[in-house]
Amino acid sequence: MPDQPSEFDLIAQLAPFLAGTHGDVAVGHGDDAAVLDLDGRLVVVAVDVVVEGVHFTRGVSTAGDVGWKAVAVNVSDLAAMGARPDAAVVGLCRPGDVDVAEVERLYAGMSEACTRWGLRLVGGDTVRADALALSVTVFGRLAAKRPVTRSGARPGDALVVVGSLGGPAAAVAGLAAGVTVDPRHLAAHRRPRALVEAGCVLAQGGASAMIDVSDGLGADLGHICAASGVRARVRADALPLDEGLRDAAAALGADPLDLACGGGEDFALLATVPEQDAPRLAAAAGAAEGVAAAVIGEVVAAVADEPVAELLHADGTTADLSALGYDHYAAG
Ligand code: ADP
Ligand code: MG
Repeated sequence: MPDQPSEFDLIAQLAPFLAGTHGDVAVGHGDDAAVLDLDGRLVVVAVDVVVEGVHFTRGVSTAGDVGWKAVAVNVSDLAAMGARPDAAVVGLCRPGDVDVAEVERLYAGMSEACTRWGLRLVGGDTVRADALALSVTVFGRLAAKRPVTRSGARPGDALVVVGSLGGPAAAVAGLAAGVTVDPRHLAAHRRPRALVEAGCVLAQGGASAMIDVSDGLGADLGHICAASGVRARVRADALPLDEGLRDAAAALGADPLDLACGGGEDFALLATVPEQDAPRLAAAAGAAEGVAAAVIGEVVAAVADEPVAELLHADGTTADLSALGYDHYAAG
């Protein structure tokens, strides 16, 4: 088979076919969601696909879990713009061995997630396919006047993470290795939560950039740095690790920081905020969801040939953070 480009390289090659930020496209392709100005009302739109064998395994996740996840990952992209969801439509790819009762269980999971985040499922499409997949498109509206994009980070801003890191990656690695998995990590993999209220707190509090951590902190911080033309420094000892992550990493013979920074599916929010507001905003955003939140580092000016995101260890050594991250093509 010829070499496949990475998911990120492929998306970059598609740019000529896509609309950028211009006219009534208030935020074009390249962010967590697009924002359209429809006669003065800003509408936020995102789509994400969850596919069997890539995002879930039947046997590990129930049909209800898969339905929940298909909605939650999209709502998380809206949260990363500082938006709340209103409605969704769903495309169902259905293999022959998925019967009607199973499809109903998928929809029950989607309904639960829709109830949790206050949106309604208003339509969809059904096709026969080889793999089970759900493609959910969500629509929503902003909590603040403006969307929070990936491109607004400035040197001097502080980096804030809301939600903890590493558990879902530890669960997936643990299942693959056949070691006992922490039930909290497995639950986070099967039923991720979207931090909508935290996103709104950060947006209303003046966050300059934001992304949801779906591909690993390193990769997603790299997206903010690339879009904003800045670098970032992260203090390893400030990272909010999922409870039980150190034990899970020890059982796997892995470094907890690799799981926390290079894993994926955390669905935490990573924001850049004015430095003087950072402790207060992190605390308020964490409290809005009842999750951990921390100021993890700072944004600095870009320097040619230096890693865009650097991890500072307590002993003074550094590592390239942006090299860590989950790429479905590379992993596949
Ligand atoms: P996220 O992890 O936040 O869902 P992605 O990495 O999937 O973001 O996508 C990054 C950006 O690229 C988004 O703006 C998305 O709309 C766009 N994108 C991804 N895949 C495609 C595609 N196949 N065609 C057009 N745009 C795409
Ligand atoms: Mg995203």
